[in-house]
Amino acid sequence: MKEAKTASDLMRVIESKNEYYAAFLTKICEIESKSDNKAGVDRVCDAVLEEGRKLGFSERLFPHPAAGNVASLTYDPGSKKRIICLSAHMDTVFPEGTFGYPAVKRDGDILRGPGVMDCKGGIAVALLVMDALRTIGYRKRPVRFILQSEEEIQCLMSSGATLDFLREEAKDSAAFFNLEGREKGKITTRRKGILRAEMTVHGKAAHAGDYFEGVSAIRAAARKIIRLEEKSIRDGITYNCGIIEGGTALNVIPDKCVVRIDIRVGTQSEANEALTFLRSVADHCDLPGSSAEVRIISSRKPMERTEQNVELFRHVDRVCRKYGFGPMTENFSNGGSDAAYSTLMGIPTIDDIGVIGDNYHSLNEWCSISSIAESAKIIALSILDFPESDEWLSEEGKNETH
Ligand SMILES: [Zn+2]
Repeated sequence: MKEAKTASDLMRVIESKNEYYAAFLTKICEIESKSDNKAGVDRVCDAVLEEGRKLGFSERLFPHPAAGNVASLTYDPGSKKRIICLSAHMDTVFPEGTFGYPAVKRDGDILRGPGVMDCKGGIAVALLVMDALRTIGYRKRPVRFILQSEEEIQCLMSSGATLDFLREEAKDSAAFFNLEGREKGKITTRRKGILRAEMTVHGKAAHAGDYFEGVSAIRAAARKIIRLEEKSIRDGITYNCGIIEGGTALNVIPDKCVVRIDIRVGTQSEANEALTFLRSVADHCDLPGSSAEVRIISSRKPMERTEQNVELFRHVDRVCRKYGFGPMTENFSNGGSDAAYSTLMGIPTIDDIGVIGDNYHSLNEWCSISSIAESAKIIALSILDFPESDEWLSEEGKNETH
């Protein structure tokens, strides 16, 4: 009985605070914060930390000279148990002014604007979860919210330093919830990794009138592009040669062609396989006199579908069924995210559990305002019902496989 009352108190508190966090979400989405706009990202970070201070959470700030600052907020009720982590990012993909002014518009339950779903809605949900747990006097485990500043550009500006902060803050935690936007009824347990590379193909310049004296780098590149893209497999490794630059004039045989490639992989072994294949395509001489080299631009590890991730998914699914939000199905996403790093650390991780919305990275990005509370309830109840034992995952995993 007492347990049921605590759960209903928690849901009531969350519902009562939904409008407050909708207003907060509007406020942080009005602050433009494209990944390379340090001043903007820092202002979002300040606004979140200010909320955390009002609630009495402890904070850790990691300032960076080039990238946006990163930070964490911790609600520590004095428990010695392993912490539960929530995570979201503050940067967006939009240049300033893309959405006009004001940038955020509300239409009934729908909020439109830069980052409302990806991923500032997740920031509002995370704060609401911690606020509500504190309000009802939850004391079982510390809960920590980690803020990332350059998720959209794979931490290029800090050369991974902001990611090191995330790893440090998430270390030894019992669970990791990444609050990218969600689709109703789905939770992500696996995401593809992304490898970005640049292949430069060299040929020999000549006048078009002396065609057979030259070696066309574009012709050699075209063969390589086809060899790469034909290797793409649905639900497997995919190669997209999205940008091509080559040639200087119509009457010149081109001596250089640059191809930029986005490769998606499901596992680390697929990443190794893709890199080996890319190198072999570059090394293969498609046209006598031509050559090519490959440079890796960036790489984001895949979030593999580990046993721990599936076990955390099952826990949240059970909670959703119990309180009327379920059932949930497992989602496999082709996009990358920070959830890959906590998965790699062996932490039970699920992703895409922020606000419900769609069309992120586009002018039609939207989220549902009432889903701030709905997602907060799912996460807060999952924390409330979290197994006492820190070893629950391995124990339950053993039982279910036998
Ligand atoms: Zn995102």
